[in-house]
Amino acid sequence: MSIAENLKAVKASLPEGVGLVAVSKYHPVEVVMEAYRAGQRVFGESHEQELRLKHDEMPKDIEWHFIGHLQTNKVKYIVPYITMIEAVDSMRLLREIEKQAAKCGRTVRVLLELHIAEEATKYGLSPDDCRALLKDGEWRGMEHVRICGLMMMATNTDDEAQVAREFQTASDFFDEVKRDYFADDDDFCQRSWGMSDDYPIAVRHGSTMVRVGTMIFGRREY
Ligand SMILES: *Cc1c(COP(=O)(O)O)cnc(C)c1O
Repeated sequence: MSIAENLKAVKASLPEGVGLVAVSKYHPVEVVMEAYRAGQRVFGESHEQELRLKHDEMPKDIEWHFIGHLQTNKVKYIVPYITMIEAVDSMRLLREIEKQAAKCGRTVRVLLELHIAEEATKYGLSPDDCRALLKDGEWRGMEHVRICGLMMMATNTDDEAQVAREFQTASDFFDEVKRDYFADDDDFCQRSWGMSDDYPIAVRHGSTMVRVGTMIFGRREY
């Protein structure tokens, strides 16, 4: 199938209200442009240099989401144009985004990355760390950062029940945080979970935004 057909199939499988971030990392501009020409406007990248190259070469009505681990020294390069930074997992990173966004006179939308999966990955806030970050309240004074929700990745396993449990835990945690800190904030509404292998499960457990790469562009060559 062509990229346009893949894209159409993924979109057709998403319920109304669930957004699609087409994850274009490692795919060259001419390939990603096929998805653009098929109407896709939201793309996800996880490396600053690769994103910069694509941003420079591709049409300016694209909304770029940074979905990878972002080093604080790279923040200044993406803040001038990024639509959303999805994987904020420390106060230090949040402060740097605030500082750089203030310099450009922008407000940058971010998601807090939650670590729930049983896998020992390095990134993401545990629910307790996330509660502590929000309770501390420093973020409330950040005028150039808008916290719009949570992002998470489930364990990479064939055990669908486990994956479903993890998404549900994230969804319940979202409800808690929404109630405790963002009850009056309509911007806090995104639950970014679900990738090629597990997005149908994610959608059944509260996802509002799936990040799909392989199912659209095929396998990545690293
Ligand atoms: C690469 C990546 C994806 C897309 O994964 P696929 O399995 O290709 O759909 C989604 N989210 C994050 C954070 C990624 O790094």
